[in-house]
Amino acid sequence: MISSQAISGSPTVVSLIDGFSRPITYLRISVTDKCNLRCVYCMPESGLPWLRRDEILSYEEIVEIVRAAATAGVRTIRLTGGEPLVRKDLSGLVAALAAIPGIEDIALSTNGLLLEEQIDGLAAAGLRRVNLSLDTLRPDRFEAIARRPGLDLVLRGLDAAIRAGLTPVKLNCVVMRGQNDDELIEFAKLTKDRPVFVRFIEVMPVHENLELQRDTYVSSDEILERISAGGQLQAVTGPHGNGPARYFAFPGAMGAVGVISPLSHDYCETCNRVRLTADGRLRLCLFGDYALDLRTPLRAGASTDELAGLLRSAMLIKPARHHLRLGETSSRMRAFSEIGG
Ligand code: SAM
Ligand code: SF4
Repeated sequence: MISSQAISGSPTVVSLIDGFSRPITYLRISVTDKCNLRCVYCMPESGLPWLRRDEILSYEEIVEIVRAAATAGVRTIRLTGGEPLVRKDLSGLVAALAAIPGIEDIALSTNGLLLEEQIDGLAAAGLRRVNLSLDTLRPDRFEAIARRPGLDLVLRGLDAAIRAGLTPVKLNCVVMRGQNDDELIEFAKLTKDRPVFVRFIEVMPVHENLELQRDTYVSSDEILERISAGGQLQAVTGPHGNGPARYFAFPGAMGAVGVISPLSHDYCETCNRVRLTADGRLRLCLFGDYALDLRTPLRAGASTDELAGLLRSAMLIKPARHHLRLGETSSRMRAFSEIGG
């Protein structure tokens, strides 16, 4: 469905509205499928069948797609991967995206290993927010879960992001029974004296991790029950509205605790996002095979208007919701990082 609708403070006249009347204003962009970690829930230890260099969109191509998306109402960009900071000169891309009329907010999802060394350049280029992934506060466990060392670098990255004023920093923690679920309260307490939003995520199924997911899944209701043992929690609004998370805070805390429950309480009804994979496919839902190839028309010389037209037509295939259940995935499901988480 296409709707002509002015968005305040922006030059846009046409917004993206999907077939279920949801305005799409948020684009997650996977800038690479590669990663310097191998988190057990995300990708195999041996890595993935990586994309060839020529298959990956150049920064110029990403900028072209974002320019078109901005004319169609997209306001927020999140850079992700794989691990976005392993791609050279990410701050150059941030600066180019920040200059696009209509783009109001640029955020980054990172494992934090390279954050301290890149944060100043990224902030100067226009990065506004950081989500940092951290599943444990113990070095030996970090190495077991991420299959690489690096906890000290991640913690330095966290401090650097706070120092650079990219607050509130969101810390994403994938909860796994028997692996890190005994650290829930320790994580939650980080929010008491730091402007940090700790978000506990239910582990999601991708085909390599089905067994792990079945064995280690902890529901967000159980997570909330267990962290309430660390103090009284009150429901609060998140830093930029709630998005997919539900937030709670300890009295007087600088930050808050959130839970993201893709399985037990999905947030599909309010979904406002689509994803661009590193090889230029627009994915309409995190799960399932709803995707549109933008790279081919882009490389064939499509104009900004033509690309915006493709984005609008893609709204027709955005599904109402995902239909995942615990321990299941679609047969064609690929690793999360490959989808461009
Ligand atoms: N490498 C970056 C990072 O780790 O933040 C960005 C990409 S990563 C795919 C984005 C987020 O997805 C991370 O917070 C990660 O923990 C989460 N994630 C990956 N696989 C997941 C899974 N199977 N279930 C739940 N969350 C997952
Ligand atoms: Fe890499 Fe992020 Fe996946 Fe971990 S979750 S393997 S850091 S892409």
